This record gives sequence, C-alpha cells and structure tokens, in this order.
Amino acid sequence: PARTRFAPSPTGYLHLGSLRTALFNYLVAKATGGQFLLRIEDTDQKRTVPDAETRLFEDLEWAGIEWDEGPKIGGPHGPYKQSARTALYREHAELLLQNGSAYRCFCTPERLHELGNYRSKLGLPVDYDRACAHIHKAESDDRAAKGEAHVVRLKVPELYPVFNDLVYGLVRQASFLTTKRRVQGSALGSFDDPILLKSDGFPTYHLANVVDDHHMKITHVIRGSEWMSSTPKHLAMYQAFGWEPPAFAHVGLLLDKDRNKLSKRHGAIDISTWRDKGVFPEALNNFVALLGWSHNEKQDVMTMEQLIENASMKYTRGDSVVSFEKLWFLQRKHAALYASMPPRLPMNPRHSLTELAVQPMVKLLDHRSSFEDLSLYTTTPQGEARENYVRSILLADAPNYTTPTEFIARNIYFFVRPSAKKLREKIPSLKLHKVPPSINYPVSTETLALFKNVSLIPDADWNGQSIKNMSTFVVDRGVTMSLASSKTGKLDERMRPLVQKAWSTLVHGYLRWAIFGGNQGPDGGETMRILGKVETVRRLEKAEK
Ligand code: GLU
Repeated sequence: PARTRFAPSPTGYLHLGSLRTALFNYLVAKATGGQFLLRIEDTDQKRTVPDAETRLFEDLEWAGIEWDEGPKIGGPHGPYKQSARTALYREHAELLLQNGSAYRCFCTPERLHELGNYRSKLGLPVDYDRACAHIHKAESDDRAAKGEAHVVRLKVPELYPVFNDLVYGLVRQASFLTTKRRVQGSALGSFDDPILLKSDGFPTYHLANVVDDHHMKITHVIRGSEWMSSTPKHLAMYQAFGWEPPAFAHVGLLLDKDRNKLSKRHGAIDISTWRDKGVFPEALNNFVALLGWSHNEKQDVMTMEQLIENASMKYTRGDSVVSFEKLWFLQRKHAALYASMPPRLPMNPRHSLTELAVQPMVKLLDHRSSFEDLSLYTTTPQGEARENYVRSILLADAPNYTTPTEFIARNIYFFVRPSAKKLREKIPSLKLHKVPPSINYPVSTETLALFKNVSLIPDADWNGQSIKNMSTFVVDRGVTMSLASSKTGKLDERMRPLVQKAWSTLVHGYLRWAIFGGNQGPDGGETMRILGKVETVRRLEKAEK
C-alpha cells in the first residue's frame, strides 16, 4: 500500500495542474489500499494568501478528493500544517549540525549580495562560497548562543545521489554542472548548499518537506517537474539523516495549444472557473487524469471508481497540451452516464445529478423568469414541480449536457412557447433517400393533422409507449395510403420497406419541427411526453394553420 500526499503551499488556489497532482497521488493511494495525506506547506509566510487554505479544502472536497490524514480530520502524524511543526524542523536542523552535514552561515545579506555581484561578474554561478563552512563547531555554537543572526545550510556532497525517477529514469544532473563550473579548491568555489533554516528560525521548503515526508511515512512522491531540480538536494538530506527516501515520480507541465505554460492569464486554469460553469467534478477529474497518463482501456470516459481501478504510474514524459474540447466531450459523456445509470450512490453525496445540474438550472431559470417570459417554466405543462420538470428534460437530453446556460438554450422550447410564426415557417424539405418516384408522399400538414387526431382520441394514454404506438400507427396508415395511391395504381409490396422508411422519416421530422420549431433538443417522442398532451396538441394546431 502506498502512502502519498498532496502538499500545496497556500500561496494560491487550486488550478488544473495542482488538481492533477492531488488526483494522481489520491488515485495511487486508493488503488493500492494505502492512504492519501494532505499537508499544508506554509513555510513561506510572506507569500501566503489569506483564504487560500480554506479554498483548497473546499475545492478538493468539491472534486471528491478526500484525504485520510490531514487538516480538519487530523491523523497519527499531525499536525498537518508546517507552521505548527517548527520545533520539529529545528530539532532536525540541529541533528544535521551535530553530524556535520549542515553548518551555520553567519554571512550578512550584504556580503551575500556582494558575493553574488562579484561572482556573476566572473561568470560563475551565484551560489555560496562556503566561507562559513570552515568556522569551527565550538566557535559556531558560541556565536549562535550569543544570538548572532544566522541561517543553517546543508553541506551538499560533491556528487548528489543518483535517483531513479519513476517517470524519467536515472537522474544524475544538478550537482554535476555546479561541480564542473566550480573553481576547484579556491575560495571562489561555488556550492549549491541550500538554506534549511532561515534566520528567523523558520524552515525552508527543503527541510520541512523532507522531514515531513519521512515522519509521515510517505512512500511515493508524485509532483510537478518544476520540483525535479530540488530532488537531488532532498536525496542528499535523506542520506544525511540516514533515512530511506520515498520513490519519486515527476510529471510534466500543462501547456496551452501554443505550447505555453498554462497560466492565470488563460483564466481557464482556476478550478473555480470550471466549477462555476457547471462542469462535473468527475468530468474534470477524468479530464486532468488523462493529461500525461496512459491507460489500457478502450475509451477515455472514466468515473472516479474507474480511475481508481485503472490507476497506474504510467505517466508520460514531457509536458502535456491541454485541449478544452476534450473536457466538454467528457462532460457530455458523464452527464449521459449519470442519466443512464440507476441512481447510484455517488462516492461523494454532493455529486448527484440533482445537486450538480438540476439545481443550478433551476436557479438560473428562476432568475431568468424574473425578467423574461418563461411561461412554461413558471407554470409547468403538466403541473409538476419545476425541479422535476427540469430533471426530466435533463434525463431526456443528457448526452448533450454541457452547462446550465447552454442546455437551457438548446431546450428553450420547454420553457417558452415557440411563436406561431416560428412553427409555421416552412418546414425544411426533409431528405429522403432512394424514394421510389412512383409513390406519393404526404405534405407536412396532413401528417401533423393525422397525428393530432390520433392523439386527441379521448383518454388516450400519454406516455413513452403510447406516443410511440401513435406514431407507428400514423406511419403504418401512411404507408398503406401511399402504396394504395401509387401511380402504377396497384399495391407494390416490394416497395413496402422503402416506403416505410420514408414515412417514418417524414412523420418524425415533421413532428419534431412542429413541436420544437426546428430547435435542438431531445428525441421527438420524449419531447412530446415531457410537454404533455395539451401542450403538444396546441403546438400541432398552431403549426398546421
Ligand atoms: N509545497 C510544494 C508545492 O507547493 C510541494 C512540492 C512537493 O510536492 O514536494 O507544490
């Protein structure tokens, strides 16, 4: 079982890239029967955004990525917020000072600044010259005891430990470069010695991250490739502590179509953008999971359960280009899934179709009906509750659901009555294939009248089946009529299948047009069922005139 973690810094909100990191870690933990941890890395207090932490919790909860240990719920290795663990980091910095893997650096910011200028003039990398590494331990302790300001630095080894990244394979970069460019043996030597403890006693990311991953017993670290250059330093720290490091998997960045890093500028990066638009959490998870991951399934549509079943660390090397068309494709597929399945118990109770789509649409329609005439919504055609009415429309047209706004536009004639003009507009000529020229076909008005008359039979049932029967009846009658009146004057039974097909196309086409004014929307039978008999007949009459 893997123990994984998502370790965001509260310096911003959850975005597509960080959602993906969280999700990858979550999936691996769940798939192996392990635990997923959430840890807040707030060591950089200056960059902390006040509401970022609460928003992170909300967004993760919305996405259905629940943590087994972490803030709010605690756990055996807490607290799960780094600012509450500073004593632990200080102890560990002390351990490294004791065993000689770290040293105190008393250099003033001014000296470091000068050193930087000098070194960059010489064309050398701006690292540290290790001046303070040579201070004797007793003197260093003494100066620290007297309260002299200092930081603690890691004394990195000549060569960083090589590590086997689960995505990129053997990594041995980093220290190699610095070592080569170093002016050997001279005071100008450049060392990549990272600061572990700042002068205010607060840890840096490097120290806190490694200490926590160890103490929280993390087995796999899946994180963005921007952290790849830190990993050798982290391995040097594991070595200095004498700890077993976790396995690392670095995943690439997310890019836009022009291969630029997906950034705030796109507006599309923030999770709340998608949530507010009405994208389902499962569709969004499905979408980000596919960015830089390969699986063996035949198709890409996966619920959270299926993502867990298929979880693997087969991440692809390099960056991934994000195409939002794919997100909308997945959104429609997930809507259809929700609608086709018997109401299942979602992993997260907030993930029901009611909560995710019906209620947002009801809210929008309520709002719109305050300034526009949505007469068929204000008073639903068969007197049902508005929410139920909206739900049946959604279930009928789910494979086309993207957002509340777009769905309502598609299905607008469920909420407003199409004008007579709209309905009377010449019905477009329907395309018939292979029509035998010797057969007569009806015009739209006849078809509509026929259907209307059938549906007006008193007490005729009005449900999916009875509507289907009615149109079958109309089609059959039409076929008989056409065959009887064919120009050759005799019934030509061999023509029956073709004529049947033609009539079926015409009847359904005319009906759809008459009822929905040629607008998109669900299948005609479903539309009539939802609109009810009275409203259907009313539209047929209007269209006929
Ligand atoms: N706090 C880091 C971040 O904000 C965590 C990086 C890591 O996963 O080690 O991304």
